[in-house]
Amino acid sequence: MKRNEDLFTRARNTIPGGVNSPVRAFKKVGGTPRFIAKGNGPYMFDVEGNVYVDHVLSWGPLILGHCHPEVVSAVKAQVDAGTSFGAPTELEVLMAEEICNAIPSIEKVRFVNSGTEATMSAIRLARAYTKRSLIVKFEGCYHGHVDSLLAKAGSGAMTFSLPDSSGVPREITSTTAVLKYNDIRGFNLFMDENGDKVAAVIVEPVAGNMGVVLPEEGFLETLRQSTLEHKALLILDEVITGFRLCFGGFQNIVGINPDITCLGKIIGGGMPVGAFGGRSDIMSMLAPDGPVYQAGTLSGNPVAMAAGLATLKVLKRENPYPILEKTMDEFVDEITGAANKAGIALSVNHKGSMAGLFFNEGPVNSFDVVIESDTKTYSSLFHHMLERGVYIAPSPFEAFFISNAHTQDAMGKTIDGMKEYIMTRV
Ligand SMILES: *Cc1c(COP(=O)(O)O)cnc(C)c1O
Repeated sequence: MKRNEDLFTRARNTIPGGVNSPVRAFKKVGGTPRFIAKGNGPYMFDVEGNVYVDHVLSWGPLILGHCHPEVVSAVKAQVDAGTSFGAPTELEVLMAEEICNAIPSIEKVRFVNSGTEATMSAIRLARAYTKRSLIVKFEGCYHGHVDSLLAKAGSGAMTFSLPDSSGVPREITSTTAVLKYNDIRGFNLFMDENGDKVAAVIVEPVAGNMGVVLPEEGFLETLRQSTLEHKALLILDEVITGFRLCFGGFQNIVGINPDITCLGKIIGGGMPVGAFGGRSDIMSMLAPDGPVYQAGTLSGNPVAMAAGLATLKVLKRENPYPILEKTMDEFVDEITGAANKAGIALSVNHKGSMAGLFFNEGPVNSFDVVIESDTKTYSSLFHHMLERGVYIAPSPFEAFFISNAHTQDAMGKTIDGMKEYIMTRV
């Protein structure tokens, strides 16, 4: 059977590149994308009946694995009651209360349909609140495909940036400055010069879109302190990290209170959701209370709210975070041990259930170092694992995830596959 290949050929006739989000196309690793028929716990099944241990997990949302029974039954019940009303529901109130309780810096929250919508709206709000236009972001951080955030640095940390995508006018990205992640000195120099023009600094508190890069000591603290000094807002993009590393945001762990937080992925339990929330005086600038327009036909969709609430309920009750961390620690020990023995440069950054695997001497602490990684080796690892029934991200610069459903059996398969690959490289 070659149904994956047949479907990909057909898909390319009617869908650009055959996919509805570029990284699904396997361009970075080569080969034919797998068309998925169903999932169950840590496993995903393609249309040819192949089974994979899934370490992409829909790029983050599925911290409970595929088809958690409580999430499935919450969704089914809501579908029976109606899929969308375009009028408020109790579920939205419950979800908002749950999030405000879990993340103290969020006094009010609004739901949207994707992480992109959350960051886009957060930026509009920050600009309105501060009456300034400049946004600071960091190289290698991804905040969705918002025009003004699709920018990378020019030659140095201090350059105002050029668009990362065709179709984004230079005038738009010229309101975005791109600095280096973890470069405290560079950030301070920039703020000394430009701080009074900055509406907001947006950052992934643990970067999860260039593999995984952890914030170095003092980095996030510096962003908080400096934005306060310059009366700019701090936006933590916790679309990946929200409810992934503890019940709340990474901000709960490091004790940093941003002005606005962006959420998505896990809080939708596998349904399309985003959210942004923060200080009450800032959030009250949104329509209908204030002058900042923001809306959505399907925002706060009841099916999505039901899936998200069910997911948060399980996370709160079971507190899987210590076990996830232990499972990941064991995995990392196993593979880095094997790589060391084999004399292969493998650096793994990890925090809780997320990891970045880099064929790189390391330490990998910024985008500059990330891109020095050996991507050919990653691609051959990817195909080795795929053949052995383990699905890791089809790109060297995406996170490796585990879920609450990743049993010893599933992890054993992944660890064996990785070790076997490492041995082939000796
Ligand atoms: C995935 C992601 C987004 C974008 O979310 P979408 O739902 O894909 O629009 C924004 N920020 C971060 C940190 C993300 O990982």
